[in-house]
Formats: sequence, structure tokens, C-alpha cells
Amino acid sequence: MKVLLINPNRFQSPPVPPIGIEYVASSLEEKGHETAILDLCFSGEVIGAVDKGIDAFRPDIVGITVRNIDTVLFHTNEFFLDDIRAVIGHIKNTHRLSVIVGGAGIATFPEGICEYLDADYTVSGPGEYVVHEVLRHFENGMEKKKVFHGRYPAAVPCRRRPFDLSYAEYCRNGGVIGFETHKGCSSSCIYCLEASSGVAFKEPADVIGEIKTFVDAGFNHFHLCDSEFNESLEYAVDFCVALKKTGIDIKWAVYMKPSNFNAKLFRLMKETGVYLVTVTVDSWKKCPMYWVDVQKFLFGAKSCGLKVAVDFLTGFPYEKESEIFEYLDILRRPLPDSVGVNTYIRLYKSLQITDIVTGDSALHAHLINEHKDPAFIKPVFYNQIPSDRLKDMLRDDPLFRIEGIEQSVNYGRI
Ligand code: SF4
Repeated sequence: MKVLLINPNRFQSPPVPPIGIEYVASSLEEKGHETAILDLCFSGEVIGAVDKGIDAFRPDIVGITVRNIDTVLFHTNEFFLDDIRAVIGHIKNTHRLSVIVGGAGIATFPEGICEYLDADYTVSGPGEYVVHEVLRHFENGMEKKKVFHGRYPAAVPCRRRPFDLSYAEYCRNGGVIGFETHKGCSSSCIYCLEASSGVAFKEPADVIGEIKTFVDAGFNHFHLCDSEFNESLEYAVDFCVALKKTGIDIKWAVYMKPSNFNAKLFRLMKETGVYLVTVTVDSWKKCPMYWVDVQKFLFGAKSCGLKVAVDFLTGFPYEKESEIFEYLDILRRPLPDSVGVNTYIRLYKSLQITDIVTGDSALHAHLINEHKDPAFIKPVFYNQIPSDRLKDMLRDDPLFRIEGIEQSVNYGRI
């Protein structure tokens, strides 16, 4: 079967290469399908580019990746689904083709997104394996409007077909090359779509082989796409040891959580070219040991020469301002390179925080835009500390930044 995979994500601050569809393309080709990737990221005329791509390749079916349904942040929020719906409508109505949608954004509410986009098939979770089931379903003319759930196999073989994307153009426009060492996260943060998902690691040798392919092509700047690099301390150390042995010269940035770390890991990260760690911290019902770990993490990473940015989400239901002042002081002490503070919590249908807020009428006064979409597909936020108040609380300390006021990313700023 011929499958055209389209990336409709045209967000440019920064542009992010859609590595998920490269894995899906490889998986399809291994099973004998023919694939092509149409990347609309830098396209001036989207519908014209879609027509051209379809006319040239003549696919049997089209797959579309939805990285995010919106930018998640409140102040500069952009909602993406209406543009994607227009592309899907055009493909279905003009070219009479069926459309599969997948990608990270689907997990927000798979059935609702399928409906909103009027897609024929929807994949929630990793698509590499389940895409074959979708194609069988399509070939046999079985029911449409169906949601398929991607699997996390025990050992994820590392397959990727790079270079259909114009990586040089991504890099010229402030993007960096992504790679992943595993899928999923075992933590259970109530505001996160990755929470309590299955976890599957890739063989370090396979991941390093992938990195080398890019290095051989002249690229040396990477950002890890894992939700958090240190899902397993043992794996993270083994990966860095294997990477160090190769002697390849790269610089890379990672996301981490304030658990599963030690000095050895930070040292190895520094030795293998990590230049920036963004650590995710939140204030939802923590035991005091959490804050001890946060401080140890920041001191440990800094003392190994790593730059550290903190993404701090706070202002949760039932929190008092006095507690938030305490957390800000804790974050101040180890002197990270920057702390981005976000008090606007994006609510999605599938999140625990959404159930907490909707289940307590005393919290409803802090909802923003909920009347516009009870399905939470259009942006709805919970906020009890508006930006003006947060600005006062931060007392002009240059360490802190109110998240989302400017469109920038940690690796571009620090
Ligand atoms: S640790 Fe990070 S990725 Fe994991 S659930 Fe929490 S916020 Fe999400």
C-alpha cells in the first residue's frame, strides 16, 4: 500500500522536526509498504503543497501527525486543530482519500479529536506498530471513526528513516535534531499527558547509531525527545557510558525529573556533551523530601558544570500563596540558570487535574474559557494567580521568568 505521511505543524518558535513519522515510515517500509513524507513546516501555500504531494505520490491513504493541539501556554496560545482540520477536509473532499491521525496531541482526548478533525482513523500513543492494524482495518473496509491505541513493546527496536525532512532548514530556523532513548513515563503528575504510561527503552547502540547517522551528515546539535531522560538511572548511565566510548563530538540538551540521579550521571552527561538540563518541577501535594531532592538535583547538576533551567508549574487548587513563596525560596538557593514559572494550567479531558477542578464547584471561579468548550479541546486553563500577582511575588528577581509571555525555548535562551 502507498502511504503519504504529512506533517502539518507550521509552528516556528522553534520549528520541531516530526521524528514520529520517520519511525512510522520505517515500520511501514519494513512490512513492504511504500511511503513518502510531506513536511508542511516551511510551506508557504499549504493546500497547494498537499495537492502537489498527493498528485506526485498517488497514495492509497494519508497519515497526519498532530504534535500538539495548541501551544499549551496561556499568554501566547495558538490553537492548531482548525488548520489541520482544513487540510484533512481538503484531502477527503478533493482527493477522496481516507485519513489516519496520530501523534502526541491525540492523547489529550482521542475520540474527541477524531471527531473534531473528522479523521477516519485515530491512533493514540506510539504509532509504529499499531499502524499495521489500522491499515488492515482500512483494507478490509471495516468501520471508520475508530480509535486505535499504540503499544509500548518490551524492547523497542530503533528504526528511523531520516533525511526526508529538510534538517538543514530546521537548523537554520532555530530547530535542533531530536532523538529518543525511550517512550513513556512512570511518574504520575496530575497535569501531564505522559503520566503513568507504559515505558519502553531502546537499545543504546541503536540510538547511538541513529545519532552517528546525523553526525556523519554534518549535524552535531541535538535535543532529546524523551519526556524525561532519567526515567531509569541505570539506563541513563549505561547510555552515557556507551555514548562516551564512541568519542563522537556532539552537544545535546535534555529534559529531566528531580529523581533518579546521581553525581556519576551528571558527570557522564557533561562528558558526552550535555550543555543544558531542563528540570520539571511542580508544587502539587509534595512531601518535604521532594524539595530536598529538587535542591540536591540542582546543586549536583550545577557542580558538574551543567547549565540548569527549571520549568516550575505552580498555583494548584487549594495551594496558599505562603507555600508558593516557600517554594520560590527553595528554587532560589541552588542558583539554577533560570526558573520559568507558570501558573496557568492547561486542562485536557484526560487529565486528573481536570477531574479535580471540575469536581469542586468552589474552584470553578478560577477556570478560564471553560464555557467555550466543555470537551477541553479548545484551550481551557485553571488559574488562581494571575500574571500581575505573580509578577509582584517574583519581586523583580532576574532569576525568574513568567512562562509563556515570550515565545522562546530554554535551549535558545540560556
Ligand atoms: S515526570 Fe515529566 S513526563 Fe513524567 S508525568 Fe511528570 S511531567 Fe510528565
